[in-house]
Amino acid sequence: MTSSASTRLRVLVLGGTTEANRLAAAFANDPRVDAILSYAGRTENPTPPPISWRVGGFGGIDGLVDYLRAEKIARVVDATHPFAAQMSAHAVAACGIAGVRLLALERPLWQRVPGDHWIEVDDLTVAAQALGAAPRRVFLGIGRQHLQIFAPHPQHFYLVRLVDPPRAPLPLRDAEVIVARGPFDLAGDLMMLTGHRIEIVVARNAGGDAAFAKIEAARELGLPVVMVRRPFIPGREKVETIAEVLHWLGHDETPTERGV
Ligand code: NAP
Repeated sequence: MTSSASTRLRVLVLGGTTEANRLAAAFANDPRVDAILSYAGRTENPTPPPISWRVGGFGGIDGLVDYLRAEKIARVVDATHPFAAQMSAHAVAACGIAGVRLLALERPLWQRVPGDHWIEVDDLTVAAQALGAAPRRVFLGIGRQHLQIFAPHPQHFYLVRLVDPPRAPLPLRDAEVIVARGPFDLAGDLMMLTGHRIEIVVARNAGGDAAFAKIEAARELGLPVVMVRRPFIPGREKVETIAEVLHWLGHDETPTERGV
């Protein structure tokens, strides 16, 4: 049995993450859901998802309210990166105004284990200061938008891993760029850190598997990690798995399991 377009649940997925792509794949096989995946447009060649998709900002909270109404969205799943705090806060506000139910799909945090040398800080500005006055060889796996924060600390060498090749010179005096798209693995990240004689890693506690290898590699090499804590987004329900999202939508089983 297939559901007609009018009876299918209109779901907006705020994406830009592996979890959002996995959710899109789950929805592609679910005839009860008519889902659209939204990308901010930061990555030059996003992987085309198996459901409808759109690219670009909505135009703030008001723009998102208009979009939800125009597209008759019944539910929103915020599967953005845990550090995409502005989009997530806009989703809370816009869903509140439009009366649309919102759920956040958020990866579990990376956890410190005995032996880890983590310096936990609240933001990247403090992370840059935590590197100290003496020159160090630093790995930055934080995305290109925030590199400027490290410019006032030119005594360090920075190894910067980016998804796309930089279009402009980096704002860092002494830096080398590696262009690579995750998921990354332990063997590769061990080779990268040792090959560049990295002494300290700067990371944001993104959680998930795709970027965990650098944390595991630092652990194995006994390197300190300056770990930026996640921003707290108030006012929303949160789950950690796709199964929980399906349950929230009232879909406990996959269509194939139900023989739909
Ligand atoms: P942000 O600071 O929270 O958002 C800035 C603005 O970008 C938002 O106000 C919104 O513009 C637009 N935007 C963000 N996500 C969007 C989405 N999924 N669909 C449509 N518009 C979106 O976000 P960010 O940190 O720049 O991250 C941008 C995107 O990259 C997110 O989709 C996120 O999932 C992904 N990403 C981020 C990181 C990270 O480290 N932050 C890492 C990996 C992937 P309007 O106000 O005009 O609506």
